[in-house]
Amino acid sequence: MIYLDHAATTPILPDVVKAVQPWLTPERVGNASSIHTQGVNARRAVERARAQVAHLIGANPSEVFFTSGGTESNNIWLSSVEPCVVSPTIILTTPLEHHSVLEPIKEKKRLGVCEKEIHVYNNGVVDLDDLERNLSEHQFNIKAVSVMWVNNELGTINPIEDIGLICKKYGVPFHTDAVAAAGHIPIDVHACHVDFLSLSGHKFGALQGVGALYIANHIPKHPLLFGGGQESGVRPGTENIPGIVALGEAAEIAKRDMASNLIAWEVLRTRFIKRLESSMSGQFQVNGGDRVSPNIISLTIPGVNSESLLLKLDADGIQVSAGSACSASAHAVSHVLAGIGMQDELASSTLRISMGVSTTEEDMIATADMIAKHSEWLKSLWEV
Ligand code: PMP
Repeated sequence: MIYLDHAATTPILPDVVKAVQPWLTPERVGNASSIHTQGVNARRAVERARAQVAHLIGANPSEVFFTSGGTESNNIWLSSVEPCVVSPTIILTTPLEHHSVLEPIKEKKRLGVCEKEIHVYNNGVVDLDDLERNLSEHQFNIKAVSVMWVNNELGTINPIEDIGLICKKYGVPFHTDAVAAAGHIPIDVHACHVDFLSLSGHKFGALQGVGALYIANHIPKHPLLFGGGQESGVRPGTENIPGIVALGEAAEIAKRDMASNLIAWEVLRTRFIKRLESSMSGQFQVNGGDRVSPNIISLTIPGVNSESLLLKLDADGIQVSAGSACSASAHAVSHVLAGIGMQDELASSTLRISMGVSTTEEDMIATADMIAKHSEWLKSLWEV
């Protein structure tokens, strides 16, 4: 099997499995709220993981709250946006955000909150002039800005530090969905003036169903759920100790290996594109512009339906994606590709190849060769 769909989910790292295993045995039973020895040990594990996640993103541990993943984090931060009764309440975002950002914002419309889109260029990068224009025109009505750090379909990296500075200048809280960024590229929330950040464990070697929300210390906390007060009341509920331990361990490993992973992905990306050029020169384009997270390759092959290509590759034991996992199953044209102005026909000829820490050069060369072979065959079906 050649698994190249790490942007959808990653395998659990072997060292993460080792760290989690003891927490699945009866000896480690304990609720982190209990004050007996077992409870205190569980609490220590949670606090160690909090420090590990904080270190990954340049936060203080007191600013990290564990959640069930990216979707929940992207919903919780929004509860801080209170609709104003006397004037319009606007949330500024981009058309390229993940559904777990766009849908809860839509839901807020019922409460009188409206959404305004910031213009994005056709490489997926947010237009900073448009952001500033909107903020200066509607300064008192815009209550939050949300822009993703890395686009999960294109790999495009947004200029988060510039966005953070602009939001700070206008006094507007800034949220970033860093689900595709965390564990892959360097993140420093304080240096970038980020107020809220969402991340998800299963995108960088931890378990599915665990994530975190960073909320800067100066931001008042508005929970989505109410209950026993865990996670300082931001996300009550008995802590998922194995999940949290996994997240902490994966965060530490990602921080330790980030520089070498980035170099390796850069090399593999270049070799893959070169290999494809050697057999399909001029017959494909790579999307996402110059500043991309190197592990994500968005490839458009005009005249080749990406779902057909995906199924042919799958039959060879190669797993890629024809969009993000969430939208790919809906058989709809990706809202991200539509959002950068790509025509439907090209969007349905776009494949996402996403590498992980275990990806090898052989994987990428074999995949390039199979893409070339199957594309030629799929095109020939139309040439009658
Ligand atoms: N944001 C982005 C950019 C994502 O790619 C995803 C997962 N596809 C999410 C949010 C949702 O994260 P989770 O699967 O942990 O709920």
